[in-house]
Amino acid sequence: MANQINILADKCIGCSLCVSACPFGAITMTDRPDHPKKFKLAVIDVNKCTFCGACVQACKVFKAIEMKKDEVKPAVDLSQYRGVWVYAEQRHGVVSTVVYELLNQGRILADKLQVPLSAVLIGSNITSKAQDLIDRGADKVYVYDDPIFAEFQDDSYTAILTELLKKEKPEIILMGATNIGRSFASRVAAKIYTGLTADCTGLDVDLTTRNLQQTRPAFGGNIMATILTPRHRPQMATVRHKVFKEAKPQSGRKGEVIVNKVDASKIINRTKFLQFFKDDSAHVNLHDADIIVSGGRGLGKPEGFKLIEELADLLGGAVGSSRAAVDSGWIPYSHQVGQTGTTVSPKVYIACGISGQIQHMIGMGSAETIIAINKDKDCPMMQVATYSLEGDLYEIIPAIISEIKKARA
Ligand code: FAD
Ligand code: SF4
Ligand code: SF4
Repeated sequence: MANQINILADKCIGCSLCVSACPFGAITMTDRPDHPKKFKLAVIDVNKCTFCGACVQACKVFKAIEMKKDEVKPAVDLSQYRGVWVYAEQRHGVVSTVVYELLNQGRILADKLQVPLSAVLIGSNITSKAQDLIDRGADKVYVYDDPIFAEFQDDSYTAILTELLKKEKPEIILMGATNIGRSFASRVAAKIYTGLTADCTGLDVDLTTRNLQQTRPAFGGNIMATILTPRHRPQMATVRHKVFKEAKPQSGRKGEVIVNKVDASKIINRTKFLQFFKDDSAHVNLHDADIIVSGGRGLGKPEGFKLIEELADLLGGAVGSSRAAVDSGWIPYSHQVGQTGTTVSPKVYIACGISGQIQHMIGMGSAETIIAINKDKDCPMMQVATYSLEGDLYEIIPAIISEIKKARA
């Protein structure tokens, strides 16, 4: 049987809620001159319909949409796959901080599923880093330590991780949505024939099915979609930096370190590493800043960023911005915070003249303290802020600067 979807004409009252709910533009309304109340009727174009079910949900009061979906059978024996894994990305022996964030969330998922949390460490001269991963929550660390892995190369790293995943069969593997993680995860997923959800901003598990609920922005950030990989294992996800808090180290925590032998003769790299260049051109240091002062369209003019910079300098912080300010050409893109900019998690985020649209909030919502300065007390940023300062930023920011200077004098 193929998937089926039908509008029940006797139940449809023509409210058109389903039209706005359908992300694929598959529903239109038609006239029904013969209807006693002249109600319109929803019509579904099955060629555009993906059977996502959003319209069924939108019409749950009237129950006018009936959908039958084929039963989806697993492609593999799901019960063979157990355990949560984190890929411990490192470069030149320095473990990326996103790994500690993944260990934190990985621990939560592993505890819910009642399975061990493991990390995979691939590199050269890196075995000593395994204890650090155990201190941060891993129960087991698989290590591949060989000069062939001194620099990240897609072929060699993919070959070794693929082999390990096929042998050990974890049910979940998480990677950072870094340049390396994005390239690496997609190759591994293709090799082991499983699904991959990129750029997740939330992760949870359904304890009945053991499916990983992978949440990420979709349709240009207008909705948050929760994606499942119900038929394949392992379930693979890359996660943005700073979405989760780092796992705190517990010194002396016990775990198992499994150092695997590498047969370098079997690993073929189709690319050759020549030289490493560090790109400092767009360095704004938003990622690591404890304090960020951000400006938005409310600044009204590019010169407004001088005030933002002055406050950031006084506080020893970095300058951020909304996309509206970047699009207006007031500040370079490297300062943009949000869905299509940088994700940050500072101790203090000061949002000046930023309304707080979802695409901005995604990038800074996990800040410990949010201070909003805005004329509109009802805007979303003022609602979520720890401290809301209502008024003109051109009066409030100079007053704050003057008080800080006075206090320091
Ligand atoms: P506005 O929404 O116009 O808000 C300006 C605020 O300033 C208002 O709240 C106003 O009350 C206040 N204000 C005005 N004058 C003053 C004053 N003198 N004193 C104090 N307050 C004042 N946005 C991002 O920021 N980051 C992203 O990564 C991002 N990605 C996006 C991706 C997609 C696919 C899409 C569709 C949009 C994206 N956006 C992003 C845009 C986002 O939807 C908003 O348009 C944007 O965040 C609005 O910026 P803003 O808050 O500066 O401007
Ligand atoms: Fe409204 Fe349901 Fe009819 Fe759509 S199908 S127009 S949601 S009653
Ligand atoms: Fe649109 Fe999804 Fe309903 Fe199909 S099932 S008509 S794609 S909302």
